[in-house]
Amino acid sequence: MIKVENLSKKYPDKNALDDISVTFPAEETTAIVGPSGSGKSTLLHSLNLLERPTSGRLIVDELDLNLDKTLTKAQVLDVRKHFGMVFQEKALFTHLTVLKNLTEGPTKVKKISQDQALEKAHALLKQFNMEELANRYPYQLSGGQQQRVAILRALAMEPQYLLLDEPTSALDPELEAQVLRVLRELAQKETSMIIVTHNMAFAQQVADKIVFIDNGHVGYDGKTEDFFNSNDPRIKQFLGAMT
Ligand code: ATP
Ligand code: MG
Repeated sequence: MIKVENLSKKYPDKNALDDISVTFPAEETTAIVGPSGSGKSTLLHSLNLLERPTSGRLIVDELDLNLDKTLTKAQVLDVRKHFGMVFQEKALFTHLTVLKNLTEGPTKVKKISQDQALEKAHALLKQFNMEELANRYPYQLSGGQQQRVAILRALAMEPQYLLLDEPTSALDPELEAQVLRVLRELAQKETSMIIVTHNMAFAQQVADKIVFIDNGHVGYDGKTEDFFNSNDPRIKQFLGAMT
């Protein structure tokens, strides 16, 4: 489980996040939604300390950090070990084949043997029907294929939590559908995922829980179903504007 308490991120001219408290359960998919500039990416990146919050508390499984204090390098690394991250676009190693992209992290960072890493990589490619891409380089893949490989690369590290920041926003609708299929499959497998998305239909389908961030505050935190049936005027306005 991940928990943030009284988390704030202040920029000189703006409070990107203002004293927010949210829980992200393990083995569930949580969608972070909200208007552009509301603080979604800031929240997501605060979880793995890619972004340093100004104050608050961060709990990641057994770790419990007071963010008001300066963190040590070891503390930051301990937090990061729990996470895999998929960025919006173009995050593959361009000079490595798909297979090598999948084995690089496990062998270099986790010190898993080459054989074991290869076995795992092949198993992942097989699971998602992407075996024919194994020996290609990223430039030989479509955008949707690249993004699916990026997701598998994060999974190859067997992270406790998978973080995704608008993983399909750079893709056309057909390619987006391919990537969403992979994510849907992962959600069904009880992968612990936190996804920032503007795709409300997708959020409604896959998320167990919704966190609605509105101008640096938590506008909603609860079950997906209740969010989409909410009578809260602000939520209705937001959902209305999306359709
Ligand atoms: P989008 O949907 O457009 O990606 P978002 O909800 O992810 O938006 P954030 O990127 O988290 O929004 O940004 C939250 C707020 O913090 C925005 O108002 C943004 O302008 C501001 N912000 C982000 N990074 C910085 C920075 N380095 N310096 C100052 N302000 C920043
Ligand atoms: Mg963002």
